[in-house]
Amino acid sequence: MSASHASHASHITPPVTDPTGEDAPTLLVKIFGRDRPGITAGLFDTLAAYGLDVIDIEQVVTRGRITLCALVTAPTGEADGATEGELRATVHSWADSLKLQAEIISGHGDNSPRGTGRSHVTMLGHPLSAESTAAITAAITGTGGNIDRIFRLAKYPVTAVEFDVSGADTATLRTALATKAAAKRVDVAVVSSGLQRRAQRLVVMDVDSTLIQDEVIELFAAHAGCEAEVAGVTEAAMRGELDFEESLHARVALLKGLDASVVEKVRSEVRLTPGARTLVRTLKRLGYQVGVVSGGFTQVTDDLRERLGLDFASANTLEIVEGRLTGRVTGEIVDRAGKARLLRRFAEQAGVPLEQTVAIGDGANDLDMLNAAGLGVAFNAKPLVRQAAHTAVNVPFLDTVLYLLGITRDEVEAADIRD
Ligand SMILES: [Mg+2]
Repeated sequence: MSASHASHASHITPPVTDPTGEDAPTLLVKIFGRDRPGITAGLFDTLAAYGLDVIDIEQVVTRGRITLCALVTAPTGEADGATEGELRATVHSWADSLKLQAEIISGHGDNSPRGTGRSHVTMLGHPLSAESTAAITAAITGTGGNIDRIFRLAKYPVTAVEFDVSGADTATLRTALATKAAAKRVDVAVVSSGLQRRAQRLVVMDVDSTLIQDEVIELFAAHAGCEAEVAGVTEAAMRGELDFEESLHARVALLKGLDASVVEKVRSEVRLTPGARTLVRTLKRLGYQVGVVSGGFTQVTDDLRERLGLDFASANTLEIVEGRLTGRVTGEIVDRAGKARLLRRFAEQAGVPLEQTVAIGDGANDLDMLNAAGLGVAFNAKPLVRQAAHTAVNVPFLDTVLYLLGITRDEVEAADIRD
């Protein structure tokens, strides 16, 4: 037994409510080696001979190597006279026969209680470097947080790992890690732990440059021959330099006289963001409702709603009279405030509290919506938006949002195979 393990085991200070009692002698049995069927059963069969009770089990297999940790009550020697010494000898002899390494650490009681303030930290890299991992984990420690558990969520299309962190305030952790993540060019999302995360039931997305790779008005503009002019106005609006409604009217006016047949052409030109179908399909399977809100046009969002099976879609409508675009929009304008209003309306219609909603967007006009949602995700967003949102994803795959919700790639692929 190493000194460090001995001191770790004696760390149990606050009272433990476990029936074994905080002073009850316990053993941490750790097995490491080449994985094969029957190791877990073999270990517990060996321990069973001593009539021990199981307090905790953790097991992980990494590239064919198993790490199995079992926290069990220590033999009392009262019932059948079996001693800890005998148990140690038996476990080591079993491990040796399978060429496994065994370590048995004596201590007292259960695991130390986890600190208050629980968060899930998701780290995405493409690839994920050791350097950025060092920076993020050091930053977690810097906030007073302790990493209780680490596991991989996905290896494709990005490497995603999740850290379960305790002992740090979620907001503090989020701020500290966001700064580090930006410097190290890695994506980090921090959400508070608890049932809330499992209760998210509505996802509302922006369309242009979020669900799809294009800006729809630019596709229309290309047909009207005023692409450059419109693109300039769009960029200024997205940077927050222009009032959205003014810029919308200015851009739509440039489309005046365009034949209505371009609507079909634009629909066929729209390119979904990689991972968009996977995201929507997986969310629908999980029972989420999914909607889009767009400062673009219903002429395109209605088509997307049908193609993707979305529950909600709202956008501005291009006015068409006698087969031609009039250069005006009709109905309620979907701008920055409008998007947040629609998120609330969809949530109400879906019967989902606002805290259980997720919003995804890239532009300044998404900010109110991102902040109103329970979880706001800035997707490949402008710096202004990235800084203001709860979390940011900067890899170009929309399905990575699933990892922020704690859904693993394996679960996504298993569901795809099943259907
Ligand atoms: Mg957008």
